Amino acid sequence: MSKRDYYDILGVSRNAEQADIKSAYRKLAIKYHPDKNPDNKEAEDKFKEAAEAYEVLSNPEKRKRYDQFGHAGAQSNGGYGGGGMNMEDIFSQFGDIFGGGGSPFESFFGGGQSRGGRRAMRGSNLRIKVKLTLEEIAKGTEKKIKVNKQVICKTCDGTGAKDRSSFSTCKTCGGSGSVRRVTNTILGQMQTTSTCPTCNGEGTVITAKCSVCHGEGLERGEETISINIPAGVAEGMQLSMSGKGNAAPRGGIPGDLIILIEETPHESLKREGVNVVYDLHISFVDASLGASIEIPTIDGKAKIKIEPGTQAGKILRLKGKGVPEVNSYHRGDQLVYVNVWTPKAISSEERDILERLRNSANFKPQPGKNEKSFFDRIREYFE
Ligand SMILES: [Zn+2]
Ligand SMILES: [Zn+2]
Repeated sequence: MSKRDYYDILGVSRNAEQADIKSAYRKLAIKYHPDKNPDNKEAEDKFKEAAEAYEVLSNPEKRKRYDQFGHAGAQSNGGYGGGGMNMEDIFSQFGDIFGGGGSPFESFFGGGQSRGGRRAMRGSNLRIKVKLTLEEIAKGTEKKIKVNKQVICKTCDGTGAKDRSSFSTCKTCGGSGSVRRVTNTILGQMQTTSTCPTCNGEGTVITAKCSVCHGEGLERGEETISINIPAGVAEGMQLSMSGKGNAAPRGGIPGDLIILIEETPHESLKREGVNVVYDLHISFVDASLGASIEIPTIDGKAKIKIEPGTQAGKILRLKGKGVPEVNSYHRGDQLVYVNVWTPKAISSEERDILERLRNSANFKPQPGKNEKSFFDRIREYFE
């Protein structure tokens, strides 16, 4: 992934305050605004890049996830499922940045191209849960999921109207979509323009509603969405795909699809962060004589060698057999905890053999001799 660091894009430090982030973005948004840089692809890319960085860093929750997991963790759009933010998204962000709604750039640049008083409708976000096995988490996966959601009504094509003749010009605004208001202030008369409340800026009103969606412009539908899940995600983590949520009527912007990650427990491996732990039980004969034993790993079965004279509680480390960190080449290890199984019921023949071994000098415990203590092992485990 060649995405630039969001902090670098905005030119702020990693511990920058919200106010600094906002003002940094404001400067970039003005510098690279398309009205000021017509037909300049580079400026447009910079404009979008800055908007995306601001979108994440201005949201404390997204920023935290970005700090922790990089682009895949916090990303609300890029990374998978297509490019960065679209222009509608960016402009809808501006109300927050420049104060007040509408299109601040018209006044900023002395009458740029008008974007009209129309307020884009926004679909709601849709939340789904995705269950993943440990193997899927280790490798990353693509999931095709059938999502039940609000889609554009096919009967009225999202307009909410019965047919083409079911529209009439809005009486409140006369079709302009915006209303002007003159107020008297101590600085003199001020004229403000705002979106028409009757038609929501559309300029037209519907006289007869679509009988299928009752004027909503939406209906229930299914969509199969393929979701790219990066390796290393964990239980409770959220990914989101912009524009894959519920549709918005009348040409509005669809909401986001929020994907909540759930882990299906593995039958014999336990995940501990980036490491995977396996509880191995061997006989004390194998522990004494050494053995080659097959164990499960995320990548399938693997043979490990038990050295002769292995003590109970020994932890073996299989390098790189754990789970990768999100957005990183680093991968954890598999830790194999060796338990020595003591037989509970034995035959008289076995008893005879053991009785003969009981007094052998080699079978007397010699703690501390050439062996690590429990504390050493614990320390090793957490290294
Ligand atoms: Zn309809
Ligand atoms: Zn109107």
